[in-house]
Amino acid sequence: MTQDWKPRTKLVHEGIRRSGYGEVSEAIFLTQGFVYDTAEAAEARFIQAGEDEFIYARYGNPTVRMFEERIAALEGTEDGFATASGMAAVNGALTSMLKAGDHVVSARALFGSCLYILEDVLTRFGVEVTFVDGTDLDQWRAAVRPDTKAVFFESLSNPALEVIDIAGVAEIAHAVGALVIVDNVFSTPIYSRAVELGADVVVYSTTKHIDGQGRALGGVILGSREFIRKTVEPYLKHTGAAMSPFTAWIMLKGLETLDLRVRAQATTATEIAEHFASDGRLERVIFPHLPSHPQHDLAKRQMDKGGTVVSLDVKGGQEAAFRFLNALKIITISNNLGDAKSIATHPTTTTHQRLSDEQRTALGITPGLVRVSVGLEDGRDLIDDISNALGANA
Ligand SMILES: *Cc1c(COP(=O)(O)O)cnc(C)c1O
Repeated sequence: MTQDWKPRTKLVHEGIRRSGYGEVSEAIFLTQGFVYDTAEAAEARFIQAGEDEFIYARYGNPTVRMFEERIAALEGTEDGFATASGMAAVNGALTSMLKAGDHVVSARALFGSCLYILEDVLTRFGVEVTFVDGTDLDQWRAAVRPDTKAVFFESLSNPALEVIDIAGVAEIAHAVGALVIVDNVFSTPIYSRAVELGADVVVYSTTKHIDGQGRALGGVILGSREFIRKTVEPYLKHTGAAMSPFTAWIMLKGLETLDLRVRAQATTATEIAEHFASDGRLERVIFPHLPSHPQHDLAKRQMDKGGTVVSLDVKGGQEAAFRFLNALKIITISNNLGDAKSIATHPTTTTHQRLSDEQRTALGITPGLVRVSVGLEDGRDLIDDISNALGANA
């Protein structure tokens, strides 16, 4: 389709495939298989499927293909492969390209399940993984080797919101021929400049901002046509982590409003961060675009906005954090993010419970830390809600 459309136009129109009925909204092709006119046609399709030809929904499906083409066009990659969840995307991107004896360098500050794949799964199959403080380019430089096949990191880490210098890491990785794989969930596809800054592969959990309304799990791997079709597709189509057509339709509808939603959420997140920046009831307010953020300059350079998550470190540790959470009236206690509904999470006792105290301390996850994913409510109501709930600690 047209390559010079602006992002918002792409989000509404890119990749659409209309059936003979000329439907306006993307059709949900709830079919696992496809019929062939002749035995010869079936044989030909198995040898080489054409542009708009499908074989089996585990390999691809028209609704899923619409979603893949639309999100790839937004991110600026040649191609994409949609998966059943964000974790299937992270696992697929790494496992499809690695083999025993390969070396990977990864940032230490990772979503718990990502850490499990790197620390437990890959190493079990003979891949060597070196963990570094992702914010320290010297550590990346010291860790890469001629046999390093990939580097992996979350461009904005969960929940301490460390910013990783994509261009800096990419330069170090590319010097040894390693592929740069970025889990870009917290940056969101709207504020992502990962490809322009040197990422080779970008992974999203579409469960987060892309659905954005808490309905479905999904993921996507974005990269060059060569990587997606020659490395990722064979692995995923035979191991079965395909996105369902119904989910792809939810994600397509999510993409239509993604830009509007994420911009509104990021604006409100900025308002909340600025409002509470010097509140005496909080130890710290962590938000990449606050001047107090340790990588504020990098965050400003790398992202047009500070994202949609604000982490609040409540004075008084876990007890005070629980009092705060239990006193919230609008913001709900849950563990999703990027949702229309604002959500508060206590990482120490939920998402990062599996880690040791030392590991949590190293990642800046203190007992008072509460991660707030800012939704679509009126920012004034959210500020009042947070302020009133902090009052419970006064
Ligand atoms: C949620 C999340 C994932 C996993 O996505 P699922 O869709 O829940 O499988 C991976 N990485 C990051 C940074 C996430 O926030």
